Amino acid sequence: MLKVHTLILGGGLTGLSGAYFLEQQARQGHAKSGDWLLVEREARLGGLTRTEVINGYHFDHTGHWLHLRHPQMQQFVQDVMGDAMVRVHRQSRIWSHGVLTQFPFQQNLHGLPLDVVHECVQAAIDAALAQARGELQPPTDFRDFCMQRFGRGITERFMVPYNTKLWGCPPEEITPDWCARFLPKPNLSQIVAGALGIVDDQAGYNASFVYPRQGGIESFAKGIIAHLPAEKIRLNTQPVAIDLAARTAELSDGTVVAWQEILSSVPLPDLLGLTKDLPDLVQTARSELRCTSLRYLSVGIAREKVLDSIQWLYVPEPKYPFYRLGSFSNAVPSLAPPGKSSLYVEVAAGATQSDDEVKASVRQFLREHDWLGDDAEVEVEEVRHIAYGYVVFDRNYFGARQTCLDYLQACKVASLGRYGGWVYASMEDAMWEGYGFAKNIEGLPL
Ligand SMILES: Cc1cc2nc3c(=O)[nH]c(=O)nc-3n(C[C@H](O)[C@H](O)[C@H](O)COP(=O)(O)OP(=O)(O)OC[C@H]3O[C@@H](n4cnc5c(N)ncnc54)[C@H](O)[C@@H]3O)c2cc1C
Repeated sequence: MLKVHTLILGGGLTGLSGAYFLEQQARQGHAKSGDWLLVEREARLGGLTRTEVINGYHFDHTGHWLHLRHPQMQQFVQDVMGDAMVRVHRQSRIWSHGVLTQFPFQQNLHGLPLDVVHECVQAAIDAALAQARGELQPPTDFRDFCMQRFGRGITERFMVPYNTKLWGCPPEEITPDWCARFLPKPNLSQIVAGALGIVDDQAGYNASFVYPRQGGIESFAKGIIAHLPAEKIRLNTQPVAIDLAARTAELSDGTVVAWQEILSSVPLPDLLGLTKDLPDLVQTARSELRCTSLRYLSVGIAREKVLDSIQWLYVPEPKYPFYRLGSFSNAVPSLAPPGKSSLYVEVAAGATQSDDEVKASVRQFLREHDWLGDDAEVEVEEVRHIAYGYVVFDRNYFGARQTCLDYLQACKVASLGRYGGWVYASMEDAMWEGYGFAKNIEGLPL
């Protein structure tokens, strides 16, 4: 039996960051920190932050732009990457009602057809007046939240169609709580200013981002891996059974590991499925965890500046089977061969169109904008899937998630990251959680 203090399950950014900071602490004399083993199911580390290279085009698993808020994480990236990162200013747009407008919709009504602008502004004024008169109850669901916050116009012209595509279910099934951080919430004055064309290009959480100069987002994962001892990492390996009472895990290579703590970024339902003797309450909670899977296209086009200078484009209208498409090479030109463009297209969760129909629809969309000529320009067009895409914040979400995580925590298992923690989270969140886990092992402050 192999004995380790920390068994790390999953080598995406959460697991890699945990390992990185444990290793750093070990070098500073914290012996317990250095005693870890990382187990990754795939042949390559990085999880969602891997980059596929096809015919010279680089494709991340859709857009992966790094937004950093915490000084510690900025330092982390600096320590790992030095000057190998570039800062890029956001160029995002929305395609709706036959025009391109600035993101976010609610703060950039200018340029939409005048009747749409009028309807949205009038409804936003009505909503603000209702709010000021104290007529509103706490919102019951995401649609209700949007109606109260932005009014019927913005809600029905953008929020409902876009979010229905993203979440694969009506916004009435989603709680309003998911959007606290990620949804820009302009006040009435900002909505009116945006309708007049007064642009605030800092709106939202992602006005600029950093990204590796070369090699796609995986270069960052590789930068972390370079600091980790290879003998503490097992690829193509996964746990087949976890005994939380005995604190042992049986691995697919036959090794039995005795552990003191687990840091897991394995999707929460999968992790619970591996554990023995799960209490009924936790079984029930596990069955209530809901998530979309994501189908997307990696597209390489032998043409410069497809999407002009836009890095990502929201497409809310139901007639298109995709909800967002973006260009890697418009953010960082080295991601496509010279004179060419690498793109991603994210397909709506509920889209019933076949892969071929989606591809045809994307080509048609690009042609209508003069971003594609002859079909021969399309040099790469691959459909991919992310099994766990977006955790769905339905009414069961908070209770079910908490029950699962509390149970695991009591058994010394920290289930963290986007799917381990069952959240809507960014790369920085994953890094931060790995960092926090490592600090916690030694009782060190963040
Ligand atoms: C479509 C999409 C776009 C995104 N865009 C951005 C963006 O622009 N900016 C941003 O900051 N964030 C973005 N994110 C979020 C970001 O990708 C995640 O928050 C972050 O990468 C999660 O890291 P993780 O380690 O928690 O999970 P993962 O990257 O999923 O890593 C989990 C690892 O566990 C492994 N694993 C799974 N099961 C097992 C098992 N049974 N045994 C062993 N190993 C296992 C997996 O192979 C994987 O390597 C996006 C996410 C998605 C889905």
